[in-house]
Amino acid sequence: MKRIFLFTLLIHFNKTFCQSLQTPKLQEKFVLVVHGGAGTLLKSQMTPEKEKAYTDALDEALMAGYEILKAGGTALDAVEACVKILEDNPLFNAGKGAVFTNDGRNELDASIMDGKSRKAGSVAGVSRIKNPVTAARAVMEKSRHVMLIGGGAESFARLQGLEMVDPSYFYTESRWKSLQKIKAQDSAALQLDHSDTSGKSSVQVSNIENEKHGTVGAVALDRHGNLAAATSTGGMTNKRFGRVGDSPVIGAGTYADNNTAAISCTGWGEYFIRLVLAKTVCDMMEYGKMSLKKAADIMIKQKLPALGGDGGLIAVDKHGNIAMPFCTEGMYRGYILHTGKKVIKIYKD
Ligand code: ASP
Repeated sequence: MKRIFLFTLLIHFNKTFCQSLQTPKLQEKFVLVVHGGAGTLLKSQMTPEKEKAYTDALDEALMAGYEILKAGGTALDAVEACVKILEDNPLFNAGKGAVFTNDGRNELDASIMDGKSRKAGSVAGVSRIKNPVTAARAVMEKSRHVMLIGGGAESFARLQGLEMVDPSYFYTESRWKSLQKIKAQDSAALQLDHSDTSGKSSVQVSNIENEKHGTVGAVALDRHGNLAAATSTGGMTNKRFGRVGDSPVIGAGTYADNNTAAISCTGWGEYFIRLVLAKTVCDMMEYGKMSLKKAADIMIKQKLPALGGDGGLIAVDKHGNIAMPFCTEGMYRGYILHTGKKVIKIYKD
């Protein structure tokens, strides 16, 4: 009897010892950064209530991701959870609250990327998937593809058992009013003049100046040392002809690579696509040996405005350094560190 007891004890000890050898030790450090879009965010046009609503929403997203990362969860889980919360919040131009297309519909784009495997997934032009970021993750994990669009993406999401909604779910009155306002301005502009001296049509100029963006995104470094990034948007108000911006384009609006950084962009999508902005920042770090801050600043504060675009990005590198540059009036943004230190900002520093 005594022998059997000793034998069982030995096996138990052996098992626990081997397990402790196999379980990788988690690093203490983790970082989470979120954004709620960049644009003409002027303090003069904000009310304290509105400001609080935005900061509360960013805070909620940060705290949800923080709990996941603190418990040893993955950067992928954290960025998806953050983006989902912001998609569900009608304040932001993603999921519920997305802007309207020219023909009065909501067409959503989203993407996600895992820095460890450099696997990525995205959906574009979808109108029936409640959380496009979750569909993007399903594309990454449950298909052999990277990007699915429109009805095909919706059929895939349905097959995966994701939550589907009637397109009317995405309606918000304020976004509807913005569309009517922009359309009225455009028809007035068209009657006056077709182009200004910069070569941009008056229609483009009026659209952009009135566009308050509001795309959402998150990037994270987890306790396993892995990076991930996710972005979700309704695109730009009054978009036409199946227009797709940078947010679902891997390398342009979203990128993550454990060798360098995780990046989520927001702004005038066409320019981010032309600059392959997110991946270029990573390349400048990898091949040009630049710091994250320097590479991100060059792309957002020099290259982007030089072409005529605007916007910003959030990023975290493999060491946990953060960058949040933008060349607009403001950008809804915030971060939380493993120490619990949390910062949320809207305007320039
Ligand atoms: N980048 C998004 C797009 O062009 C819009 C935004 O970030 O505000 O679709």
